[in-house]
Amino acid sequence: MDNCIFCKIIKKELPVDIVFENEHVIAFLDIAPINKGHTLVVPKTHHSSISTPSDEELFHIMKVGSQIGRALMKGCDYDGFNLHLSNGNCAGQVVDHAHLHVVPRIGTDGFHWNWRSQKYEEGEKEDYIKKMKSKLKLNES
Ligand code: AMP
Ligand code: ZN
Repeated sequence: MDNCIFCKIIKKELPVDIVFENEHVIAFLDIAPINKGHTLVVPKTHHSSISTPSDEELFHIMKVGSQIGRALMKGCDYDGFNLHLSNGNCAGQVVDHAHLHVVPRIGTDGFHWNWRSQKYEEGEKEDYIKKMKSKLKLNES
């Protein structure tokens, strides 16, 4: 994609600090890290949504993300990490090329996700599960 910033990074038209690269993904330091070492794992093919990469690409995104999280813990003294992915502008996606954030964490970092807890009405859970199942496309036995 011509005006995609991450496609330009993949084509080496924009410099980044590369942590890992293979034929499927590139992983580089986020320019504005939540904590130092915060890394983005990006499929090399342009996909605006995480719904469209192939199973192989999805495997590599998650595998590299989890291994980078492990490396941040073992090599940079972090205690844990968040794997975060925003899909859609309403979910906070700013760059329109799917990417997984690996955010290294330590208990004293002072960063908090702004979670909230809603409650289901009677019968609402079943309704959600029915609607979701009607659209799920998974090749499972
Ligand atoms: P998102 O809000 O999930 O779309 O995240 C986009 C991320 O890309 C942000 O955390 C930005 O800091 C990061 N980002 C944008 N441009 C660059 C760049 N040139 N190099 C590294 N990270 C970038
Ligand atoms: Zn792109």
